[in-house]
Amino acid sequence: MSQNTSTPRIAVALAATLLGLTACTTAEAVPAPRAADTARPGAAGLGDRLHPGLGNGGYDVRHYGLDLRFAKDLKHYAATSTVQARATQALSRFDLDLIGTTVREVTVDGRKAHFSRAGEELRVTPAAALRRGQRFTVRVRVQAPVLDPQQVAKLGTGAAVGLFRYGSWIQTLNQPSGAHRIAALADHPAQKAPATISITAPARLNSVANGDLTATRRDGEYTTRRFESRQKLATELLQIGVGPFTVVHRNGPHGIKLRYALPTDQARAIEPQLDKTVPKAIRFLEERLGAGSFPLRTYGVYATPSGGSLETQSLTTLSIDELTPEGFANNGTDVVVEHEISHEYFGNSVSPRRWSDTWLNEGHAVYYQTLWAAQEDGATSLEDSMRQNYRAANAQLRKEGPVAAPRRSAFKPQATAPYGWTAYEGGALALYALRQKVGETDFQRIERAWIREHRDGVAGTADFIRLAGSVTGRDLGPFLRSWLYADKVPAMPGHPDWRS
Ligand SMILES: [Zn+2]
Repeated sequence: MSQNTSTPRIAVALAATLLGLTACTTAEAVPAPRAADTARPGAAGLGDRLHPGLGNGGYDVRHYGLDLRFAKDLKHYAATSTVQARATQALSRFDLDLIGTTVREVTVDGRKAHFSRAGEELRVTPAAALRRGQRFTVRVRVQAPVLDPQQVAKLGTGAAVGLFRYGSWIQTLNQPSGAHRIAALADHPAQKAPATISITAPARLNSVANGDLTATRRDGEYTTRRFESRQKLATELLQIGVGPFTVVHRNGPHGIKLRYALPTDQARAIEPQLDKTVPKAIRFLEERLGAGSFPLRTYGVYATPSGGSLETQSLTTLSIDELTPEGFANNGTDVVVEHEISHEYFGNSVSPRRWSDTWLNEGHAVYYQTLWAAQEDGATSLEDSMRQNYRAANAQLRKEGPVAAPRRSAFKPQATAPYGWTAYEGGALALYALRQKVGETDFQRIERAWIREHRDGVAGTADFIRLAGSVTGRDLGPFLRSWLYADKVPAMPGHPDWRS
């Protein structure tokens, strides 16, 4: 979809129309009941082979609303998630994903709904069954403690911890499956949708979330800020920030708005590194992926004290320590910044259809990060870097399984699957092999077509293979499948001497 400058409301409506999703609310648009339309429960998950319970069957999500209110000491919060959806089958019952929390109330279209808990599922039975094609709004109010760092460590679930506090800071680390620890959502990237996030926090602290700040309201000792994400937002990419930070605004390339949420007492020390790196990293990617191709009109960084870099959409999470002048010099933070910005194309704008497709996120991010490091920092060339990856490949594939079909059992904890070597280095290696096979010009055409055709969408490995074929006019299926689904790495085109 092309970029547009119309108002958010129109952009959302337009996107929905282009996707054929605009459900008419008049009676004649709803098919008359047939036997096949007998209401039955929606599936508990989308059938993802790595995370079968994530996401929910029986409906498409049209919009997410998330209202959070934090206690004065930040130790508790109340959240209301409002999911606007459209039934894809007649539904007697449907699920949302939810771990922990105390559920206070569930309504469907404003009427109280019956609910029950089963594992990580919240089962919602509306007062009346939903017709196929019917649009509905489910609202779930929950309360929960905010995890502290000790509880986060005890969870032992890698990055997928959801919301937590660190001193007087709040942040999330959701990927791949932590968002439904925060509130009731459809927690799978295939069900991404535009989102409105509203944060009510003590007025002495600032708050930030994905998207544009559209309203601020002071109410006694609390301030509420509302953020709108016009782009569809996958729940794994949610960021909720509260803390003693200042938001610094800058102009980026061709009118992209930049905003950096930086610790107030260190903003001056951190900002110069970001000023130097972020616009340059966006331009670097646009030179390769197309002028004006960056998928966002607002991009920024949330610097947090706890560490952990994450491509939370339009608001990359980075650690304060990495962003100081020393951090930049010692940790190669510019490479991390470049990696996370490339995710705005790969993983955020184009979301994985299933978690096994994560190589399309991480492989691309590693590929462009390697090009950046070679050009900007004089680091190892792409070729040398890929030769090293190739050497390691067979041992890693034995351990984790094929690049596009990693084995869940190989990951500890399993909730972190598929975040391992195969998605990152293995994915980059497969992309490099494709470039070797078709040449730089055709490779770039494939890349540009990928981010253009699936912009603000969801796409997987089969889509990539199909697109590579249609762009080049060659049947690249057997070649790409040998890289993506094999237990052993094939010979590298152009480098028959490489060994693994
Ligand atoms: Zn990444």
